[in-house]
Amino acid sequence: MATSYDVIVVGLGGMGSAAAYHLAERGQRVLGIDRFAPAHNLGSSHGGSRIYRQAYFEDPAYVPLLLRARELWEKLATDSGREVFTETGGLMIGREHSEAFAGTLASAHQWGLDHEVLGAADIRRRFPTFTPAAEDIAFYERKAGIARPEETVTAHLDLARAHGAELHFAEMVLGWEADGPGGKAWVVTDRGAYLADRLVIAPGAWAPKLLSDLGVRVTVERQVMYWFQPEGGTTSFTPDRHPVYIWEDPDGTQIYGFPALDGPEGGAKVAFFRKGVPSDPDTLDREIHPDEIAAMADHLRSRLPALPGRFLKGAACMYANTPDEHFVLARHPDHPQVTVACGFSGHGFKFVPVIGEIIADLALDGTTEHPIALFDPRRVRV
Ligand SMILES: Cc1cc2nc3c(=O)[nH]c(=O)nc-3n(C[C@H](O)[C@H](O)[C@H](O)COP(=O)(O)OP(=O)(O)OC[C@H]3O[C@@H](n4cnc5c(N)ncnc54)[C@H](O)[C@@H]3O)c2cc1C
Repeated sequence: MATSYDVIVVGLGGMGSAAAYHLAERGQRVLGIDRFAPAHNLGSSHGGSRIYRQAYFEDPAYVPLLLRARELWEKLATDSGREVFTETGGLMIGREHSEAFAGTLASAHQWGLDHEVLGAADIRRRFPTFTPAAEDIAFYERKAGIARPEETVTAHLDLARAHGAELHFAEMVLGWEADGPGGKAWVVTDRGAYLADRLVIAPGAWAPKLLSDLGVRVTVERQVMYWFQPEGGTTSFTPDRHPVYIWEDPDGTQIYGFPALDGPEGGAKVAFFRKGVPSDPDTLDREIHPDEIAAMADHLRSRLPALPGRFLKGAACMYANTPDEHFVLARHPDHPQVTVACGFSGHGFKFVPVIGEIIADLALDGTTEHPIALFDPRRVRV
């Protein structure tokens, strides 16, 4: 007879590691399983930095979750002793009617969030590394900053283990089964089979494989992160002088970037938001090609002219997109003992700690006090 757990968490990336921690912290007997190593770089939660912001152009309904996430980021830093979050301020630059500027401003008004609106001359004066066009305008939010993906996953895994969770790595889940209401759930891996009262599935870009019966079309997209050493060094790009940013062009193209986080010899990271190539997670092109690097350097030259000094490195990552780019976070509509968390559509990391809390609520109670109506899979089920 297989060992029986209270909860099995499949996938210990950003979301699964947070879920394992919150469940173990609530006294559950947790088994976590991941096919790769802890805090690996083969999924969606690597590359050293993720933007956190509070005003949210994607939909103002995310704002209360972001406020709770910020409290939990602080608690996680204290409990783990790790630097999981750094406040840097954030700039959303674009034309007056751009999604990045106007959408962000609307959500700030709706929720009464602190902010400043800066004209092009103000942006150039306060943040001289940016050279906006005269028609550009920016939303500035002091409370925006950087979440650290590898540190965060490691912190959650360590704390989950400290609360008694059993964590298996380099073990691949081949399938799962749920018997029906009230029944237990089975997980079969390349090493064995496990039984639990509840199952959490947080498979990132592998959702099309592990959650095919959910009926939500999750499209995996290759996304490249680029690190450049700025011309003249990193002095003007340090986190105390240089905010995180999203910059939208009149044609809707968005880039986003970070200050330099790896000392004077390091670089500052920048990337295009969306518009990636559809891919399969098991055959993802992880090589970064010269034409991609040149396209990014060209794009930066008129916007952050010092940044594309010297290309240092690049890395591929994956978005797992739902049709409307909102998350899927719910009990599985056909299996109440299974909670699913997927389709974070390239903007999930800033929410990681609160998603962990919500997964624990859903798995244990079937409901949560957090507002998650937007994430119901039935909205996009085919
Ligand atoms: C380039 C890039 C930039 C981003 N920038 C931002 C940003 O600035 N701000 C932001 O908020 N978000 C950002 N995101 C999005 C954010 O990082 C993701 O939404 C988040 O990391 C997704 O976490 P996850 O747990 O769903 O996936 P993952 O962290 O990939 O975890 C899924 C886990 O499931 C495991 N798994 C899958 N299948 C199996 C199996 N069969 N058996 C066992 N284990 C399995 C995988 O090994 C993996 O560890 C970015 C993403 C990328 C790629």
